[in-house]
Amino acid sequence: MLHMMVHSVYSDRDVFLRELISNAADACEKLRYEAIATPSLLGDDPQPRISLTLDADQGRLTIEDNGIGMTAADMGETLGTIARSGTKAFMDRLAADAGKADSQLIGQFGVGFYSAFMVAREVEVFSRRAGADDAACWRSDGLGTYTIAPVDLDDAPQRGTRVVLHLLDDAKSYAERSTVERIVKAQSGHVPVPITLFEKADSEGALVADGAALWLKPRSEISEADYADFYRSVAGQYDSPAHTIHYRAEGRFEYSVLTFIPQTKPFDLFDPDRKGHIKLYVRRVFITDEAPVLPRYLRFVRGLVDSTDLPLNMSREMIQDSPVLAAIQKGVTGRVLNELQKLADSDSEAYLRIWENFGPVLKEGLYEDFERRDTLLGLARFKTTTSGDDWRSLKDYVADLRENQTAIYYATGSDLDRLSTSPQLEGFRARGIEVLLLPDQVDNFWTSIGVDFDGKPFKSVTQGGADLTLIPLSDGAPSSPQAEAGALDSFIAFAKEALAGSVSDVRVSERLTSSAVCLVASESGMDRQLEKLLANAGQ
Ligand code: ADP
Ligand code: MG
Repeated sequence: MLHMMVHSVYSDRDVFLRELISNAADACEKLRYEAIATPSLLGDDPQPRISLTLDADQGRLTIEDNGIGMTAADMGETLGTIARSGTKAFMDRLAADAGKADSQLIGQFGVGFYSAFMVAREVEVFSRRAGADDAACWRSDGLGTYTIAPVDLDDAPQRGTRVVLHLLDDAKSYAERSTVERIVKAQSGHVPVPITLFEKADSEGALVADGAALWLKPRSEISEADYADFYRSVAGQYDSPAHTIHYRAEGRFEYSVLTFIPQTKPFDLFDPDRKGHIKLYVRRVFITDEAPVLPRYLRFVRGLVDSTDLPLNMSREMIQDSPVLAAIQKGVTGRVLNELQKLADSDSEAYLRIWENFGPVLKEGLYEDFERRDTLLGLARFKTTTSGDDWRSLKDYVADLRENQTAIYYATGSDLDRLSTSPQLEGFRARGIEVLLLPDQVDNFWTSIGVDFDGKPFKSVTQGGADLTLIPLSDGAPSSPQAEAGALDSFIAFAKEALAGSVSDVRVSERLTSSAVCLVASESGMDRQLEKLLANAGQ
């Protein structure tokens, strides 16, 4: 599989450098964090740094950091297995559609340490864990086996990790200054650790990235390209941001926020753990990416928050319960929703692209975030029986209510095309009543909890007695069935008897115009789609 990955993403192999630099920066940030509790780990070398050393003669590129480092045991665990979730997901996908893998795939998954084998025939990792008095070397040709052996302290960095790439014949340009400089500037210019480039013999080195925290700079000094580069390195994404939110909150608590809404769906969007991806910093020190800075229904938002108020020496667990974090969560959540609202008002096309990707996730909030439900209902967009290719807001819907219409009607299902041709809709269509078509799993949940908009309750079309008698047909025809009363009565009696035990009632209905019959849920009972869903879930 490694072979497949290495060759399938051939055209994008520049990304290996970004992956290795981001590991080096992560290692520096981990050390910074551990040194809060154990300052002695920093020794006499407190400034984090990354160096790239080129040896064109030998065809070698070396990436070194003075970060946390690894013990021999760490190496076995982290480099010996496909540790990274992105790499794992990538491999799974490759295995699933072998052969079809192309460079598009890499756009969806970060590929991690293993990407080094896209350009190297052999990789050596010399490392010394901060505070340890021994060092080790991991070595592999990427064909399935590796070795780990102790090395002399002189052969390893004083602290941290040195990754040596013995470049493939057709990858020798990665030992050339112009190539490496270009890639670093384009991909890693904003990692929060300075990067210095050395050529084999020279001991001076040239700074190729300054390690300044982009999020602390004023917006006016940051170009769109800077933001996009930073987005890719902070989010591990390969696309560009669809929307950038950068501001500093002042007041009771002070913090900087730099977050992005991606242009494409991240691969883990519908993972069951619904993990968020906002990094939490305290005064430029990376603390955790596990803190719930945003609610789960905003898990597609990437980026970071840097707080001035959280104490640095607070454990990650304690941070979870801190009132400062609660205030940050409230503030950032409100801001993100507000930005979405502003975008919806000012540039509906851009907004709809975001909604198309993330609407199903945002709708989870209708169910989970009572406090912001109205805001989220305002942001929601729907396909309806009258929308065609457009999207409709609830405001649009309510503005076009038919006379005597007091509810917002919806139909749930798993497929938009099937939904839109459902016989359940005939009676509504015939009366010119718009019906929301709700194709997402999550729609079964939020509609089941008594939501209303602008004082109008949501009502499923499959629930009985759907008030259609009150609203005249569009073509002016009388709305009651025009059969002889006696004939209908005896048919209904027959049907009831024939179906006894299978249905609870058989009724004459206004809901159909051309179909003869349809199944509905009882008014008080569960909606049919929800019934199906729960039945599938074994409930
Ligand atoms: P990820 O960075 O997503 O965890 P990678 O495949 O890039 O996945 O790296 C796997 C693991 O190897 C890292 O999580 C880390 O534990 C370890 N690692 C890689 N490079 C370094 C490094 N320069 N310093 C310390 N640990 C490293
Ligand atoms: Mg990595």
